Amino acid sequence: MNNQRYIQEGIIGDKDGTLRLMGRLCRDCEKKSFPSPVFCPYCGSDKLENVFLKNEVTVLVASTTRVAVPPFDPPFTLAIVDIEDDIRTIGRVEKDADTEIRKGDRLTVKFGKLFEETVFNKKIKSSETIDVIGYYFVPKS
Ligand SMILES: [Zn+2]
Repeated sequence: MNNQRYIQEGIIGDKDGTLRLMGRLCRDCEKKSFPSPVFCPYCGSDKLENVFLKNEVTVLVASTTRVAVPPFDPPFTLAIVDIEDDIRTIGRVEKDADTEIRKGDRLTVKFGKLFEETVFNKKIKSSETIDVIGYYFVPKS
């Protein structure tokens, strides 16, 4: 098995053995943000704590790309989604070619390998392949 890393530190956490998206809750204005800012984007406070987010999102808009955008092979679908009330973010939707994604659709957050990368490991003086783990969305079943 390849070594693994998260696509970004601080946005995915382990809640009771299950991976979940992690946001930040502002203790001053009580709004949530994602991915992990240092300061609250609403009030500028630095009193932020990690919170696990719901694993369900609502689609604002989605678009399918038919040209190659490394590391993803076309066609792939991106959606701008809302998580809970305060968070708007973007992610890839994994779906059948004939499934349409529309405004208001509910999607489930999944975690897994997004792509592989090859890096030079100085300790073993050799290249190694790393599985990059991130999140994506699937239509709610
Ligand atoms: Zn705030």
